[in-house]
Amino acid sequence: MQQILDAIQSGASSDDIAALPIPESYRAVHVLAEEQEMWAGVPSREKDPRKSLHVGEVPTPELAPDEVYLAVMASSINFNTVWSSIFEPISTFGSLKRLARESEWARRHDLPYQVVGSDASGVVLRVGSAVRNWKPGDRVTVHCNYVDDQDASSHDDSMLGSNQRIWGYETNFGGLADMCVVKANQLMPKPAHLTWEEAAVNALCNSTSYRMLVSRNGAQMKQGDVVLIWGATGGIGAYAAQYVLNGGGIPVCVVSSPDKAEILHKMGVEHVIDRAAAGYQFWKDERTHDESEWRRLGKDIRDLCGEDPDIVFEHPGRSTFGASMYVTKKGGTVVTCAATSGFMMEFDNRYFWMRLKKLVGSHFANYKESWEANRLISKGMIHPVLSQTFALDQTGEAAYQVHHNMHEGKIGVLALAPEAGLGVTDQELRDKVGDKLHLFRR
Ligand code: NAP
Repeated sequence: MQQILDAIQSGASSDDIAALPIPESYRAVHVLAEEQEMWAGVPSREKDPRKSLHVGEVPTPELAPDEVYLAVMASSINFNTVWSSIFEPISTFGSLKRLARESEWARRHDLPYQVVGSDASGVVLRVGSAVRNWKPGDRVTVHCNYVDDQDASSHDDSMLGSNQRIWGYETNFGGLADMCVVKANQLMPKPAHLTWEEAAVNALCNSTSYRMLVSRNGAQMKQGDVVLIWGATGGIGAYAAQYVLNGGGIPVCVVSSPDKAEILHKMGVEHVIDRAAAGYQFWKDERTHDESEWRRLGKDIRDLCGEDPDIVFEHPGRSTFGASMYVTKKGGTVVTCAATSGFMMEFDNRYFWMRLKKLVGSHFANYKESWEANRLISKGMIHPVLSQTFALDQTGEAAYQVHHNMHEGKIGVLALAPEAGLGVTDQELRDKVGDKLHLFRR
């Protein structure tokens, strides 16, 4: 790996990088199939990613014709890394077995370990024989939509593909490693003004928020729309807030501390609700909603901006979903991509049908949406929300922090990059973007 790193850092040519030997094994963060039951009977909060995420050498898989080997300079923690590490809502080893049944190449994924991680920035080392648009030496970021391009169902919106998967979560050979294997159609150009770790944290969350708010497949936000954003300094929420500001909407952001509110004010968000200070109790007990609390939230939103939300950006799930469906404006849209606090949702349908609202389910993003979201980052119009950077060996601790909501924005993880701050090739744009790159830094 040192030879690869030296070549990258010395700016070696494409031919020189193509001539480098591919190591037979590499360092990777992985979960073990034999530990799938290790948390039986343990409450979710007590399941500790530091115990189930292992860092060690794994053998390098063979390269399929449509894939590339990538030297990973940096990666990031996504909530799906937390899900993988606590084996919730299901263990991901079942996904690997189902994938393995699809083809000879897919069979490689069914192993007693899974290398996790659904983001990466890095340098292409080798391309498979069918790869056309990329070559060794290319500096890239990776999006996690793992698509079967030989399946008709993938060819309208690839997120509708019947066997669509999330790389590094529902596949093996993910990005929290010194090297990874990705399909060529997951690659996007690395934004030149960003460091490796800044470039690594965007693709999953940024593309998800783009699809939810901007794309025709999501809520199709328009100028002037009031958008209620839960978790507005979290991974997806922090990009959502930027999209609303960028698109001429009016964000109403919900967070749980004054420090988080301050970050949003610095970003240019006027209306922020501190849910901890407000003390909303949307549930009286585990089974009974408190509608008066939905109304209180609605009143707080009206007091701030004078209107009900046209769009609610929903992902906390069971704890907030009833309130989200209630406060949305007549004819408005709730767009949801997750259910962190529980996936069995309940809401009062009378406020839904009588007020002609819409509910849109959304999941990651197709290649075009990811590319557009990456393009906005590359142009310095949307910014990475990196708050901290950990070493690969500390991935368990980083995932623990996300599991316990101890973080803001995104946590980056250095893989081959020997230190933070490397990889910038467009200093002029970086200077132009300026402080916006540091709003989330601790
Ligand atoms: P994150 O960085 O942990 O941020 C989530 C934020 O939501 C937290 O910072 C917290 O903010 C807020 N929150 C958490 N529990 C809440 C509750 N019970 N009530 C109200 N707010 C709550 O996670 P993320 O990366 O943004 O991801 C959020 C969810 O989306 C996860 O479940 C993740 O798996 C999912 N996701 C799905 C996709 C997809 O493609 N389907 C893509 C990305 C993420 P405050 O404490 O400040 O309010």
